Amino acid sequence: MFQNHTALTNAQTLFLTPSDVVSIVHAHGLPKVLAALAAYVQDDFLRWAQFDKSPRVAAHSPSGVIELMPTSDGELYTFKYVNGHPGNGQFGLPTVMAFGVLADVATGLPLLVSELTLTTAMRTAATSAMAAKALARSDARSMAIIGNGAQSEFQAAAFAQIVGIREFRLFDIDVQATAKLARNLRAMGLDAVICGSTREATRGADIVTTITADKSCATIITPDMIEPGMHINAVGGDCPGKTELHADVLRAARVFVEFEPQTRIEGDIQQMPPEFDVTELWRVLSGASIGRSKGAAGQSEVTVFDSVGFAIEDFSALRFVREAALELGLGSRIDLVPPLADPKNLFALLGEVPATLHSRRSVCYG
Ligand code: NAD
Repeated sequence: MFQNHTALTNAQTLFLTPSDVVSIVHAHGLPKVLAALAAYVQDDFLRWAQFDKSPRVAAHSPSGVIELMPTSDGELYTFKYVNGHPGNGQFGLPTVMAFGVLADVATGLPLLVSELTLTTAMRTAATSAMAAKALARSDARSMAIIGNGAQSEFQAAAFAQIVGIREFRLFDIDVQATAKLARNLRAMGLDAVICGSTREATRGADIVTTITADKSCATIITPDMIEPGMHINAVGGDCPGKTELHADVLRAARVFVEFEPQTRIEGDIQQMPPEFDVTELWRVLSGASIGRSKGAAGQSEVTVFDSVGFAIEDFSALRFVREAALELGLGSRIDLVPPLADPKNLFALLGEVPATLHSRRSVCYG
């Protein structure tokens, strides 16, 4: 759907705000954007070997975490700044906030600075649905959503569009969050069932999505809630000391991850010994490993996508929003890099230099 565009011809950087990304969604519709994002992520996962890969760099504090997520395919370099602060609601702030940069490897020029709060919700949902398409039973039609906060509508929309889910069973410890999700899903024409507990929501569900925010080793899904053939899309356990699944749920399932070294640190498998067997998702997408087993065995197998969010997904998302924005003429061009007639004369930027470098004003910043 989106054409490749060449780099901006001068040293300017494209700047995208949340309202620019909203305009992309309005221009194409949310289902198409989610499908396009899933296709971009899948394309990039299929050229896994071309990317620099490392676990993200995390700065932990008692209230949350701030993380940097870099990667490059040798032509483009990206990083995302993202936080996770489950108590942020009391300050009127989202739990997750993000922005990112996409740069040209050949020159180092930053081509794009973009909001990634809204974009992260869409890329996470698109990745979850892409994984479920490869791992869940093909006849899956109902999904429980445990945790009904900022990410949840996007998860539902992506699973409706990409996996064909028709019924959503909702639970959150905050009843207002569930009422908000039900309202938003019904406005999208989706079938929402409000449940009184995680157990009630998961009963009979083909897929269970956990997307809670709590900096604790929680066991939101316990083995007694697991039914044969279920796929679990575990998205909220994404940081050391922050889990959602009981260890026996992982032991009873086949577990798939994004980038194993990062997920061993951050995912639900942080509870498991280093030899615990997992498969990276790109291997399933490329046909190098099998996902759900074929035939009758596959119908009763339990699969888990232990999602933490990986830098390549943000690389894909930044690539997508840049191409979509250029196509639609959105965003503004900013002088992040100083425009210079002579690149060796950075000093000229200061304009006319006073006779003396010493000002009578004393400077004592930071
Ligand atoms: P949010 O704060 O908006 O919503 C989280 C919801 O979880 C809240 O409504 C809260 O009441 C609910 N909750 C907490 N504990 C619960 C429990 N025990 N049972 C049921 N509900 C519970 O946060 P968000 O932006 O929706 O993010 C949700 C989670 O997803 C966060 O942990 C975030 O770090 C994670 N996340 C992961 C990825 C990824 O790529 N894997 C990407 C984005 C966000």
